Amino acid sequence: MSVKQFPCSLEWLSNLQFSDQQLQTINRYRCLMGIDGFAFWQWHQASQNFSIHGELCKLAGYDFDEVQCLTQVNQVRGLFHPDDLERSVAIIRHHAHHNTPIHLSFRLQRKTGGYMWVTTMANSLRDDSGIITDIVGVAFDASALHRTQEALRTAELRLQRIMNACNDGIWEWDVINDRMECSDRVMQHLGFNSYDEIALGAKNALQGWTRRIHAEDYPGFRKAVRKTYEEQSTFDVAYRVADRDGIYRWVRTRAVGGYDELGQLMVISGTNIDITEIKLAQDRMERARDDAESANLSKSKFLSGMSQELRTPMNAILGYAQLFEFDTNLTSQQRTNVREIRKAGEHLIQLIDDVLDLSKIESGNVNLTLEPVNIPDIARDCVALSQPQSSALGISFNTEIDESEDLIALCDRVRLKQVLLNLFSNGIKYNRTAGWVNVKIFVLDEDQVCISVEDNGYGISEAKQAELFQPFNRLGAEKTAIEGSGVGLVITKSLVEMMGGTISVYSQQDIGSCFEIHLPRCESFADDVSLSIDSIIDENKTFSLDLQSPKKILFIEDSAANARLMSKLFHHINNLALEVADEPLLGVYKARTEKPDVLLLDLAENESDTLEVIKILNSDSDTKSIPKLAFVNGASRAQEQKLAELGIVSLLSKPINIGQLMNALQRVLK
Ligand code: ADP
Repeated sequence: MSVKQFPCSLEWLSNLQFSDQQLQTINRYRCLMGIDGFAFWQWHQASQNFSIHGELCKLAGYDFDEVQCLTQVNQVRGLFHPDDLERSVAIIRHHAHHNTPIHLSFRLQRKTGGYMWVTTMANSLRDDSGIITDIVGVAFDASALHRTQEALRTAELRLQRIMNACNDGIWEWDVINDRMECSDRVMQHLGFNSYDEIALGAKNALQGWTRRIHAEDYPGFRKAVRKTYEEQSTFDVAYRVADRDGIYRWVRTRAVGGYDELGQLMVISGTNIDITEIKLAQDRMERARDDAESANLSKSKFLSGMSQELRTPMNAILGYAQLFEFDTNLTSQQRTNVREIRKAGEHLIQLIDDVLDLSKIESGNVNLTLEPVNIPDIARDCVALSQPQSSALGISFNTEIDESEDLIALCDRVRLKQVLLNLFSNGIKYNRTAGWVNVKIFVLDEDQVCISVEDNGYGISEAKQAELFQPFNRLGAEKTAIEGSGVGLVITKSLVEMMGGTISVYSQQDIGSCFEIHLPRCESFADDVSLSIDSIIDENKTFSLDLQSPKKILFIEDSAANARLMSKLFHHINNLALEVADEPLLGVYKARTEKPDVLLLDLAENESDTLEVIKILNSDSDTKSIPKLAFVNGASRAQEQKLAELGIVSLLSKPINIGQLMNALQRVLK
């Protein structure tokens, strides 16, 4: 078939006569050729003539006449970017031999200089023997498309760079076609170089991967995938995967699903991070923590064992000192001396407990008995205890107590004593010759009682104040002859805070320091049984609890010394009778037959037997409801709870604190 060459000028058409149908067709083609940015071209093979029509040429800056002159294919070649020529010729040649479609993008020289991207699609007309006679095509401006492609390519390269730079593996699983795409890093995490290596012997890379997951972790992995399928949830799972040498590495996979409008999962895209090092570090940390915990436990065991060893003889000293205090044959001076022995002994016990306390505080194992405490009473006790120390160093001790209001705070009296003794002792120790320590107690506001301990000693510089309350940090005092361990203030602060209070410091180097404690204020005592042991002894007086009728107490205690001490004490109490059972079975028998109003037990001495007794009494309906009080040597919170469940209504400290005991008895017998 031969094709007539298109005339160059469209005006030429208007001089011819056409049927209406032909005119319609011509107009249609005219219209098409007028589309912005398009051109139609024809290349006649025999003559090598070339013709082109359309607005594309205008876009490249050529006017009508210039286009008219573009009649030879060589002229057209001259407008191609040199770099695109060879590829373009090859595509046309390939078309000629294989009849593949011509689809070609090239850069066309603009009249004004520079190039514009043009895409052309063409086909050929062949004669009966298959020889190409003409090639005809359409060309259009592809600048915008090319810019988009270019931007896409840049973005892809950037993404590739990021993917290569980051250590995360990136992957996408086409769920519908079961196809996996992943970055090299995914494979490299397991020591493979390519996707194919891991897929070897498996259906695909996904299967190759999942087959390597540790058997223990696989169910978790599957579950996470299922959740993503069914609940559209994100996927975040850490698991072990065997690398190419069979060594397990920890991988964390995070992914999200892509769903169609019906909610069906189409694709899952995600990242893999190699967390092996993190896991190993975590394991090391956990091991170190376990080691530290067990070392701490051994330390606590050792310390509590030690303190127990020291406590037992101290208990005896204190117990017998108390017995002496009841002895009416003593002169008042002797009684004062005995009292000093007792107080000093109590102080010593406190010191033994300091180290134990610190370890208990550190392990969160400190128990407090919070009760309304008359602060001035405690402060006076502590001042008296500190007096020998202050006199020895020539420090004057002054107390200013504003007793116009009740100075009662909810706190643990023993712990408060410990706190005050430490602050007083510091005020004395870190002081100059003829210095002073002022203790002021006053109501700060409706809710708080303030105890301030001020001295005009060495003071603490601002820089060192930042290091206060750090265990074993003596702020340089270790270089002096002043004795100390550097734990007192740590314990003090912890105790004050555990009692719901606060502690603050105001200090100036070479001027002095003021430690201020604020404690929660509370109502006065419910009764008047906060009898000080001193008053009982000094006046050899007896006293009564506020009771409707006399009551019977059964004390089950196999330590003869403790039993004797308690019996002596109860001689001074009018309306309480004490019965002692010096062995557990006798205790059970007496509880059943004599029906005491209160049972007093000693868990501090023989815990397992005493617990057994409690269990037996609890299983008997006759003895079950008898209120039980128990002496303990400090109990952990868990222990306290266990004892409360066993019906112990009050835990009493050892050595015996008479005020605390009386308060507890008053409460249960009221
Ligand atoms: P210790 O007295 O056993 O060294 P503390 O914990 O009680 O331990 O006190 C820590 C440090 O704080 C002391 O070593 C001392 O340097 C400083 N410090 C405490 N109280 C005072 C005070 N009132 N005046 C000056 N320095 C003090």
